[in-house]
Amino acid sequence: MKARTDRWLAPYRRLLAAYGPQHWWPGETAFEVMVGAVLTQNTAWVNVERAIDNLKRDALLTCRGILALSDADLAERIRPAGYFNVKARRLKALCAFLAEQGVADHPVALRDSAPLAELRQRLLAVHGVGEETADSILLYALDLPVFVVDAYTRRIFTRLGLLRGEERYAAIQRAFMDRLPAEVRLYNEYHALIVHLGKSVCRPRPRCGACPLLHRCPHPRT
Ligand code: SF4
Repeated sequence: MKARTDRWLAPYRRLLAAYGPQHWWPGETAFEVMVGAVLTQNTAWVNVERAIDNLKRDALLTCRGILALSDADLAERIRPAGYFNVKARRLKALCAFLAEQGVADHPVALRDSAPLAELRQRLLAVHGVGEETADSILLYALDLPVFVVDAYTRRIFTRLGLLRGEERYAAIQRAFMDRLPAEVRLYNEYHALIVHLGKSVCRPRPRCGACPLLHRCPHPRT
């Protein structure tokens, strides 16, 4: 068991040593993190920041503020994040969900409203909230120990030989969570480091010479 854990922890240790803490998730409140988790779907973070700034400028970055906007007005304000009509509907759905749960004024209280597994199911039932978004909200907004999986995770860990590559989201998540201690800080930092590596080095055409994981990775030899 220890050897298996080490194989899945070793990349984390090397990435942390190479890149340092990533200080995720950028956001001043749990609600801002939730909004960011929806807006970041299919776009770069810099675009999300512009959309969030548009809401903040008029003090609309609250659950009630967003619900009070018309769909068209909300879409216009979040236009920089792309897919703005779709994302406006998704943000409204998330805010309506928070209001239904009785946490519109204090969204972080969602954390205590149900056990983790139940909370995840409730989030997945919200329009536009898929597994990655739900888990990002659980981990980064609510500080709950859930490992977030994304396309970078799949690519890097397939190249490292720890995944086959065709596993479903749940199987990849289980692979991490079965082997790593259930620690929010570890999950938070590990995912952030994976994203950093995936964006900067382990790209579709990887820059293996600059990779902190090169010594353990079979991919450059294949
Ligand atoms: S050595 Fe290359 S393929 Fe392997 S993880 Fe690093 S960048 Fe990706």
